[in-house]
Amino acid sequence: MKRIPVAQPTLNGNEKKYVIDCLDTNWISSVGKYITAFEESFAQFCGVKHAVATNNGTTALHLALVAMDLQPGDEVIVPTVTYIATANAVRYCGATPVLVDVRAETMNIDPADIERKITSRTRGIIPVHLYGHPAEMEAINAIAKKHGLWVVEDAAEAHGAEVSGRKVGALGTCATFSFFGNKIITTGEGGMVTTNDGALASKLRLFRGQGMDLARRYWFSVIGYNYRMTNIQAAIGLAQMETIEKSISDRAQIAAWYDEALNDLRDQIVLPKAVESTKQVYWMYNIFLREGDQLRRDKVMRDLDEMGIETRPVFYPMHVLPPYKEDAAYPVADLWAQRGINLPTYQALTKTDVQRVASSLKQVLFRQ
Ligand SMILES: *Cc1c(COP(=O)(O)O)cnc(C)c1O
Repeated sequence: MKRIPVAQPTLNGNEKKYVIDCLDTNWISSVGKYITAFEESFAQFCGVKHAVATNNGTTALHLALVAMDLQPGDEVIVPTVTYIATANAVRYCGATPVLVDVRAETMNIDPADIERKITSRTRGIIPVHLYGHPAEMEAINAIAKKHGLWVVEDAAEAHGAEVSGRKVGALGTCATFSFFGNKIITTGEGGMVTTNDGALASKLRLFRGQGMDLARRYWFSVIGYNYRMTNIQAAIGLAQMETIEKSISDRAQIAAWYDEALNDLRDQIVLPKAVESTKQVYWMYNIFLREGDQLRRDKVMRDLDEMGIETRPVFYPMHVLPPYKEDAAYPVADLWAQRGINLPTYQALTKTDVQRVASSLKQVLFRQ
């Protein structure tokens, strides 16, 4: 039987045509029409004034923090359950990521725990829209306003998600995205920072291009970075933007198939929950076992793997990983992350594939 991977890109639009155009015209490096076109298209999609493309999602995060002048000794609030790049970008600035517990089911940062972790050194908050579930931006922005903090949305997994009809990417001081091969849209490797703040956008462009003055070539006014995206990456990105609505709706359809096929397993597993006044996108369809620990979860994943179905564990919380190890307990993250499994989620999945995943999972759970 064919193997079902956990993720794969879909490249069935103008990707090839635009890449060949880059090769034919010799515009293969980090100048070219596709970069501007991709940035403009992405800004419009998010409903923001500015979008600054980068070479990956991690550098997008780092660039945002540099442009906001994050310094050694500063603290930044991040959820303990996230992809490690969120915390790493804070460390790249010499600052300290301060971990916060998450909500059950959505695994998103818990606003009540944010309040408890704010000190005189806190500069900002990085909510992550994990697996495509928007974080509680209204509560988070209210806390930020009260304490004079900035908010950087880590929207790497949530292109097109919405809170009260407004897209992520437009809900904080700025936001960052990833276009890695398994994300909702891809450029192979790639990233973007979005913002409505014109002065911040200029700083992002300055630091992205090695610190070279935007109006005076070879005049370097700051120590910057080479975080530029290539025209080839942007060419793929522009083609992906032409079909992004379908990518999002196809993933929603896949989620609906999973909901239906897994419905009679609800005594065994927790399915994704809709959150009021938000539109989630399905980067990963995420389930949690109701019983057991990490050992049982890992066994379920191994058994599925033997049946030709690749899955992924929910991210290990930062506080259990060596670089960010803490003895402190994060009760919700500790209980939920170890029972979480990402099921295969990508556009090319058929209803038959989804039903096969569901029936395999059923077999595995009842065999144990
Ligand atoms: C993928 C991801 C990133 C980093 O993106 P890369 O393009 O892989 O560098 C950052 N944060 C989160 C939450 C992610 O999922």
